[in-house]
Amino acid sequence: MNAFESLGLQENLVKAVSDLGFENPTPIQLKAIPVLLSGTKDFVGLAQTGTGKTAAFGLPLLQLVEPENRYPQALIVCPTRELCLQICNDLVEFKKYARNIQAEPVYGGASIVMQMRALKKGVHIVVATPGRLIDMIERKAIDLQKVKYVVLDEADEMLNMGFRDDIDFVLKNTLNRESIWLFSATMPPTVRAIAQNYMDHPKEVTVGQKNTANVNIDHQYFITQAHAKFETLKRLIDFNPGMYGIIFTRTKVDAQDITEKLVKEGYTIEALHGDLTQQQRDRVMQRFREKSIELLIATDVAARGIDVEGITHVINYELPDDMEVYTHRSGRTARAGKSGICISICHSRETYKIRQLEKMLNVSFHRLDIPGGKEVCRRQFFHFMDKLKSAEFSHGDYETYLPDLEEKFADVSKEEVLKRIAALEFNHLLKYYENADDLNVRFDRREHRHDQGSQRDASRRADHSSFRSDNGYSKLFINLGTKDGFYKASFLQFILDESNLKKEVLGKIDLREMNSWVEVDRSAAQKMIKSLDGTTHNGRQIRMNEADGPSKRPYEKRKKTYSSNR
Ligand code: AMP
Repeated sequence: MNAFESLGLQENLVKAVSDLGFENPTPIQLKAIPVLLSGTKDFVGLAQTGTGKTAAFGLPLLQLVEPENRYPQALIVCPTRELCLQICNDLVEFKKYARNIQAEPVYGGASIVMQMRALKKGVHIVVATPGRLIDMIERKAIDLQKVKYVVLDEADEMLNMGFRDDIDFVLKNTLNRESIWLFSATMPPTVRAIAQNYMDHPKEVTVGQKNTANVNIDHQYFITQAHAKFETLKRLIDFNPGMYGIIFTRTKVDAQDITEKLVKEGYTIEALHGDLTQQQRDRVMQRFREKSIELLIATDVAARGIDVEGITHVINYELPDDMEVYTHRSGRTARAGKSGICISICHSRETYKIRQLEKMLNVSFHRLDIPGGKEVCRRQFFHFMDKLKSAEFSHGDYETYLPDLEEKFADVSKEEVLKRIAALEFNHLLKYYENADDLNVRFDRREHRHDQGSQRDASRRADHSSFRSDNGYSKLFINLGTKDGFYKASFLQFILDESNLKKEVLGKIDLREMNSWVEVDRSAAQKMIKSLDGTTHNGRQIRMNEADGPSKRPYEKRKKTYSSNR
């Protein structure tokens, strides 16, 4: 018997998943499908994105709805338009041999009239984002009175996004439902409250973090020589003032060595490893949590389960071999709906490991250039100037010194004062980076092609690997996407407005959740990079560079304020 058949699924669905190449059910499918098919009233599935949970609830729904009744019998609520469309697409695949079942998406940012029209034709399953759904309910454009099954997908994400009241509203408008199936990656008290308020002794199943990486993480890697790793680490720390991060090493000895070397060079950093007593570890963690130290060097064992809010970066000083270890490390950032960056410092022979991780985790890794000395200095410089500009001085007794100060600086211009302040703060850094080496490993052409080839292979869904497209466009990477609230039109508007370019310069746009790729006429590419790279959008610093090519960072606009690590 086919493994899906033995879960109780009917033939047409088994055939459809087999067409999709699914050989065996994933753990969440194994645990959820039989329970949901058995008519269990309420259900909680704790599973991350990427675990196959769409099929875990989608297949049972397709089996349970009655095709002859063309009204909404199942309602799936999910946080974003992209997920809504993705779920619908998956349902279409799954119901390939059950064409008499209709599933329709309902989401904001598209014509409500068209969606209302589609619903009117008769639909069995509605997949909706909360805002548009409520709009539909209020306009009486959707009848949820006969909805039997309500699925809340990515419940924690919906609550993080502030949809609490909307979910309450939806649940209060589906009073004849028989079941709520709630799926969530985590079970914070807010999600637990929904289960308590609306569900009746739900059956709860949990699956581990298999084959998944948090979608809010930007995975970056930098290639250098083995002997230049420490220097690369320093450069990356210096290039990211305000970094609140954990650096992972394989061994306690490495953790201790690197910590000592960094402390000697003036960094505020501490180590967390198994040779410390519990008391010492607690103290280190307390200082890290309070941000008295903003960088921690840790071994995997010591960092197990660290849950600190707001970690911006995780750095793998060495790439771990094991996917689980990588997932655990990177999962220290991008918690509670925030985004984060996971950096891996690799040597050239390790690119195959990156490809493996890409495949196993089903995410793309981005190779970036290790910044040069000048770039680091500019970054630090403008960071400091931002701090200077936003320094709080209302509590000091500065007014009393002002007359003396004014007298002292009477013949010094504002520009000169700024230069002197900069010199005081930066002379040491400028000197240090004056003749800084290029730490990047440049592939020869053959290797480079190979690298690009395998990258294309690994991230089959898109080819972002070439330095330049062949069609007169440069392909640019930008770390903005739908997660930042963009859809295609608003994204185009934004990059064109910021760069003051006309839409004729644009080629293909590949808008993803966390990052996007934009084809820009070669003659306009640098202007766009200059206008956007280093600026901020909703508090997030924008990074734009040629896809997998050398990033040329302009520094005219730095708005974000950081606190220094030094
Ligand atoms: P989801 O968590 O539903 O977004 O699924 C993540 C990915 O896993 C999707 O690309 C699915 O097509 C795929 N998938 C789901 N179930 C299976 C399975 N049983 N075997 C292989 N791939 C699967």
